[in-house]
Amino acid sequence: STFQELGLNDDLLHAITDLGFIKPSEVQEKAIPILLESETDLVALAQTGTGKTAAFGFPMLEKIDVNSRTTQGLILSPTRELCLQIANEMKQYGKYCKGLNVVAIYGGSSITDQAREVKRGAQIIVATPGRMKDMISRRMVDISKIQYSVLDEADEMLNMGFKEDITDILSHTPEEKNTWLFSATMPREVATIAKKFMNAPQEITV
Ligand code: AMP
Repeated sequence: STFQELGLNDDLLHAITDLGFIKPSEVQEKAIPILLESETDLVALAQTGTGKTAAFGFPMLEKIDVNSRTTQGLILSPTRELCLQIANEMKQYGKYCKGLNVVAIYGGSSITDQAREVKRGAQIIVATPGRMKDMISRRMVDISKIQYSVLDEADEMLNMGFKEDITDILSHTPEEKNTWLFSATMPREVATIAKKFMNAPQEITV
């Protein structure tokens, strides 16, 4: 299939052409129609390098309202490097989405600078759990209007001991949001998190 057939809008198709992506990867082909067509939770078993960032990123970019400055999408990722990588990819994918602001939040860098960026209005925040929790407790971010949350590399985040931070962060988000969990493996801890935070998730494996 083509990206056009998946139902993506012209702004995204334009960016995809610029990036030179010819056709959707398997995880994109499976996840994008599900996420575009329904308001659902999703569990996706997918390794890195499969194009999973775009699999959740394109639908999130399509669904958020760029005319609002409210934070609507939250992507949690285990490391600073991944967080920056995802934020950069999201900026590239959304380069023709006028008004879009994607902000990366991670430890080891000025929290006040990051708070200032958030304050300017970020529709999408990409964060590591520790710094995110810190900024929530200092009231530097408001995630009470989140509609889409992504737990990326969920198995890695749990391996790194972020379970409590994730639980704390998600407790500050609305009940009605959709959660999309991506993981390379499905150990019991990931299944437990999925069960606790998700509502009848659709499942895909690549
Ligand atoms: P990810 O698994 O999201 O880290 O993506 C791995 C790499 O593949 C990134 O550099 C993406 O820019 C690239 N990529 C994602 N989707 C596609 C696609 N459909 N065609 C070609 N490259 C892609």
